[in-house]
Amino acid sequence: MTAMTATPSGPRPLLNRRLAEFGTTIFAEMSALAVSTGSINLGQGFPDTDGPEQIREAAVRALRDGRGNQYPPGPGVPELRTAIAGHQQRRYGIGLDPDREVLVTAGATEAIAAALLALVEPGDEVVALEPYYDSYAACIAMAGGTRVPVTLRPHDGAFRLDLDELRAAITPRTRLLLINTPHNPTGTVLARAELTAIAELAIERDLLVVTDEVYEHLTFDAAEHVPLATLPGMRERTVTIGSSGKTFSFTGWKVGWVTAAPDLVTAVRSAKQFLTYVSAGPFQYAIAEALALPDAYFDGFRADMTAKRDLLAAGLADAGFGVFRPQGTYFITTDIRPLGFDDGFAFCRALPERCGVVAIPNAVFYDDRQAGAPFVRFAFCKRLPVLEEAVSRLKGIAP
Ligand code: PMP
Ligand code: GLN
Repeated sequence: MTAMTATPSGPRPLLNRRLAEFGTTIFAEMSALAVSTGSINLGQGFPDTDGPEQIREAAVRALRDGRGNQYPPGPGVPELRTAIAGHQQRRYGIGLDPDREVLVTAGATEAIAAALLALVEPGDEVVALEPYYDSYAACIAMAGGTRVPVTLRPHDGAFRLDLDELRAAITPRTRLLLINTPHNPTGTVLARAELTAIAELAIERDLLVVTDEVYEHLTFDAAEHVPLATLPGMRERTVTIGSSGKTFSFTGWKVGWVTAAPDLVTAVRSAKQFLTYVSAGPFQYAIAEALALPDAYFDGFRADMTAKRDLLAAGLADAGFGVFRPQGTYFITTDIRPLGFDDGFAFCRALPERCGVVAIPNAVFYDDRQAGAPFVRFAFCKRLPVLEEAVSRLKGIAP
């Protein structure tokens, strides 16, 4: 088999047109660069310590007891679906039927893919906040949809949504709004008033909303995570996506979920069943236990990440970066212009050689690469001594 097959108009590339623009995800590229240069990896967002020992043990127990070693049920094991519903009820007062309104997925990544493949017809427009998590663009494309970015712009030290721009982006072809709060990569947490305006627009224009809330437990200071599904009129039109990866520091287990009204869950399941069908059997039992951990776990996790954010934000500011102090997620977006640079790609490719640190150029999350060019993202979900070392390495960065 050759890499190309000939057609009358020349060789036809193997990769189809829908995916051709995406290349290799930046996370793979930058993590490989961290390994090959021995750099501190503040690029791809994964913690350098595992989650609670008792949850790791719960996974081992499930594996040894033969729970989940064969195909679990398509929608997920009942214990986990019940635990997800319990978590949504306890934290947000959202009542869910575990049998009809909860679907377990292979991480939030599969939930995003299944939701878009299920709900988007070719030609539909999907309005997404820009900068957007990279899989959104690829999944919209795989579904044959057209992405319509609405850009969060820097304003008073934070990236904010312009509600007029959002309104203007909606056309008769708009099928759904793809929201992400707390927002990766900017660290913005949409305020209740902004979410209320989004909800009003969705209702007025009769749109579905897919909301990626994987960082729901990572909000800092006074920021509050408000699930869109809790707002009036949103329960029946919202697909909410969650993940255990971030909340419990087991990103490799890939246990995620969708919660929504029964007809939406059925639609998403129709796509999901032909993607992975099912995944992560024993881990599903362990995450069911994790979701039932007492509030002290979630409070401790947030306090730990707050201290890490504070350390890295102060260190980056000291080194001369413009720092957008995040209200949520475990990422800090910086502006490299105060350091005398303006091309985040070139900056991130040179950073490992220059000082042994890896970061992510935010431009990859933009359609308008120029708009994202001066911004660079650093992850702070690392041990304090690792962050201290990264900060000391970054001190000499200004030319
Ligand atoms: N959505 C966002 C905004 C993310 O940052 C990530 C990365 N964790 C995902 C989805 C994917 O989550 P998972 O690892 O559960 O597939
Ligand atoms: N969500 C993680 C990040 O933004 C990366 C996950 C991935 O590698 N796909 O860094």
